[in-house]
Amino acid sequence: MLLPKNIHRNFILVRKIETLQSKVYRVYSRNLSTDSNKKHEIKSQYDVIIAGGGMVGCSLACALGKNSILSNLKILLLEGSPNKQFHLKPEYSNRVVALSQKTKTLMKSLKVWQHVEEMRLQPVRNMQVWDACSDAIITFNSAEILDEDVAYIVENDVLQHAVNTELTSSEIKNVEIIYGAKISGYELPTNNTTDSLVKMNNGDVYSCRLLIGADGANSAVRNAMGVQYLSWSYEQMGVVATLDLAEETENTTAWQRFLPTGPVALLPLSSTQSSLVWSTNVEHAKQLLQLPEEQFVDALNDALWKQYPRSTTVDAVTSWLSSWLKSAGLPDGATRQLPPSVRQIASGSRAAFPLGFGHSTRYVAPGVALVGDAAHRVHPLAGQGVNLGFGDVRDLTSFLSDAIYSGLDITHNSWLEKYETSRQRYNVPTMLGIDALHKLYSMDLPPVVLVRSLGLQITNALQPVKKMIMSHATT
Ligand SMILES: Cc1cc2nc3c(=O)[nH]c(=O)nc-3n(C[C@H](O)[C@H](O)[C@H](O)COP(=O)(O)OP(=O)(O)OC[C@H]3O[C@@H](n4cnc5c(N)ncnc54)[C@H](O)[C@@H]3O)c2cc1C
Repeated sequence: MLLPKNIHRNFILVRKIETLQSKVYRVYSRNLSTDSNKKHEIKSQYDVIIAGGGMVGCSLACALGKNSILSNLKILLLEGSPNKQFHLKPEYSNRVVALSQKTKTLMKSLKVWQHVEEMRLQPVRNMQVWDACSDAIITFNSAEILDEDVAYIVENDVLQHAVNTELTSSEIKNVEIIYGAKISGYELPTNNTTDSLVKMNNGDVYSCRLLIGADGANSAVRNAMGVQYLSWSYEQMGVVATLDLAEETENTTAWQRFLPTGPVALLPLSSTQSSLVWSTNVEHAKQLLQLPEEQFVDALNDALWKQYPRSTTVDAVTSWLSSWLKSAGLPDGATRQLPPSVRQIASGSRAAFPLGFGHSTRYVAPGVALVGDAAHRVHPLAGQGVNLGFGDVRDLTSFLSDAIYSGLDITHNSWLEKYETSRQRYNVPTMLGIDALHKLYSMDLPPVVLVRSLGLQITNALQPVKKMIMSHATT
């Protein structure tokens, strides 16, 4: 932001006074908490403690640490798992995420993207999504829709390592990290004039003005906030694996076929390999994990290619719509690409993860905020989960720096609430859309198949609607 010099000087002065006030307040608050909690010997005080150092928690620590307006904050990141040394192996990991253009922009601004590029990523330039119960299909082509890549497939541990490389670089001086942190509980303030206490298993207690829960879907911070959490299980598991394809191609297409049991998706990794995310009911997922690898490959090729029972009415109506779209000069979905065949899976690469929906009705409370899966959890069918979390990182960092720039405290309600409003406005419709898609494609009743097939065909024919969908998801 460009400001006249004297205004800028005044802001700096306000910030200095604010920092001084906050130091006085923290000494006062420390005394208060020591008085009221004699049993707690506070080991260290922080401005911000981030509980959970997954992809989202580490990115937040990195974003706060790199923000010049927030450089006075003393930040602690607590991660429960040990600090693992990362070495890029020739074989791909079975855990990958599809990252949107918005996420790329955030990661570029944090200088994280360059490390991802130095390791590896695969651009997605086309997407083909089709229904196993009809001929309905939708395709997205980066050249015709956005003029940029639709997404990037990146292994979780590659992204995590790239973020950690920046987080531990000399550019960041105000973030401390404790790995293997065992948190036994939280004591949260009822108003924002007292600190939150983070109690560790070894008896240490840390205090902070702002506690951020980045501790995943089973967030203990969210539980301590006592907020309402709307959640359900999809009674499905996401079976993942690394796949060797039958043929070498450019492989920049993401494929997703909606089966009556759930979607099966192939995400490109390289010219010969793709990553599988196969969402299916729990019993089937367990069977798939038990199958010998060759039989698993057969089952997967069946899932991609097999003809499912069709309703003649649905076929007749969708074929009529197709001809009508063609006569109107609109895309009729007839030009479909054939999905790749899978040759084999990388040995031992199969795993399965339970899938569920989760929505915290509040993302903030006095002196506390939630980010990432701690606040929201979605089905992976749209590849949005961690992208929503990175949106939280971007907005929370921006609102906290706005709070300080305005001469207020980082725990000031109005800024935390702005964060919550801004994120829920984006996250809730996205989550509901994903959940609705899941419900719509879980049924194989002909009237439902007909409605969704017509919807998909019409959406595919209307370029501006496709553009709108893509730009919501990616930009
Ligand atoms: C099969 C599958 C496929 C997916 N594909 C995609 C995709 O293509 N695109 C996409 O955007 N998203 C995808 N997702 C979703 C994505 O993986 C999650 O949204 C993302 O991992 C959430 O990151 P997070 O950092 O918020 O939480 P987590 O990854 O759960 O990290 C939480 C961290 O907190 C730590 N922690 C927890 N409790 C404590 C504690 N008490 N003390 C200290 N540390 C603690 C944990 O050790 C962990 O490191 C997929 C998910 C699944 C299951």
